[in-house]
Amino acid sequence: MSTAAFTSPTGAAPAVSDPAATKPEPFPACGNIPDAEREELRRRGILVTCLEELYGWGRANSIWPLQFGLACCAIEMIAAATARFDIARFGAEIFRPSPRQADLMIVSGTVTKKMAPQVVRLWNQMPEPKYCIAMGACAISGGPFKQGYNVLKGIDRFIPVDIYIPGCPPRPEALLNGLVQLQEKIRAERVTGEHAARHLRPGVIAEIPVPECGETDLVPPFAPGAFRPPTPPALAAQPAASPATSSRSQSPSAAAAPSAPAAAKA
Ligand code: SF4
Repeated sequence: MSTAAFTSPTGAAPAVSDPAATKPEPFPACGNIPDAEREELRRRGILVTCLEELYGWGRANSIWPLQFGLACCAIEMIAAATARFDIARFGAEIFRPSPRQADLMIVSGTVTKKMAPQVVRLWNQMPEPKYCIAMGACAISGGPFKQGYNVLKGIDRFIPVDIYIPGCPPRPEALLNGLVQLQEKIRAERVTGEHAARHLRPGVIAEIPVPECGETDLVPPFAPGAFRPPTPPALAAQPAASPATSSRSQSPSAAAAPSAPAAAKA
């Protein structure tokens, strides 16, 4: 199973554009010296940098994840912290039990609709700048429980996700790969401009409304402004099935119902 981390979901598109999609230019304060030349200078003992880059380098190499797990993917996350995989090599071994002291939320496991308000509340309690990794199929889309009435079809309905790690479950190496990609994203962030960190961009919501458990679903079902539901396929554009075809392949009630993918996305 492929476990390569990626930074954008295949289904719903986040409303906020991802600056990591376009690689930023070298830091202008460094005199636009190409990376190869800077590396050569570094080998000769000359370090060329700027405060903005130093700031990003420090943040990228001292990530403190929130210590919490939701389901089986959490076991893989715990394994990543053991001696065999050793997440400490990446400066991210200090799992914090308090959201006030954490800047990375690894959503590792199935997010039920009963648990989603607590996850959103924890996210709100984390100080900026903060990041989110959706680990595993359940956190990305609901995974094997996607059709369940009680499972959230992706944590990105409420929380802006930076890195998606597919798999059921992803191995610890996949989490480390996702962590390295997150570090690259943090290192590329600027204090101002198009590539500024998310919390420094104008128009980004600071606190996400905590949903409540309604009669049949969460209220609201997704965070307004943070999630754009996928457009269901245009049923009207599909050619109408002939009566003979309908009687062969499906019952009249099934013919009147929306298509299965559309119902699953609703
Ligand atoms: S993606 Fe698979 S391993 Fe991970 S929480 Fe869901 S069912 Fe468990």
